[in-house]
Amino acid sequence: MSLTGPYDPDNIFAKILRGEVPAVTVWQDKHVLAFMDVFPQSEGHVLVISKTSQARNLLEVEPRDLARVTAAVQRTARAVERALSPEGISVMQLNGQAGGQTVFHLHFHIIPRWADRPVKGHGHAPMAELETLQALAERIAAALD
Ligand code: AMP
Repeated sequence: MSLTGPYDPDNIFAKILRGEVPAVTVWQDKHVLAFMDVFPQSEGHVLVISKTSQARNLLEVEPRDLARVTAAVQRTARAVERALSPEGISVMQLNGQAGGQTVFHLHFHIIPRWADRPVKGHGHAPMAELETLQALAERIAAALD
């Protein structure tokens, strides 16, 4: 998938937004959804997406939608910090297949980091237990401002 092209309405995040595929939600409002990555690169890996934009990547998104998503990224990252006390947080956003992107609905990764815990490679992390993700989502949601 190149940087340009049509939005695929059957991508996995579109299916999550339509309720066709389950997700472990951290929080949502009418514009954005924050949910747990099922292949977490570290404990507490959260994804944030727009509910209203059909942008595939950063280059396509309307500034108004981008502002809402990035505000949601900040709100979520602050809650991750309060809930999990990481030593660092990597915010990652990939564009195009050659850029490492695998799901073509714009999203931001929030990846908590600890100096003594190596982060798992993107696309190489094992699937997490749903109960584990649910417990993390509840801790993060409880720390939202
Ligand atoms: P990217 O490669 O930047 O497009 O990131 C896509 C992310 O979506 C990866 O980190 C995947 O682990 C994650 N992912 C794929 N399918 C699902 C799913 N059904 N629920 C939650 N996360 C997913």
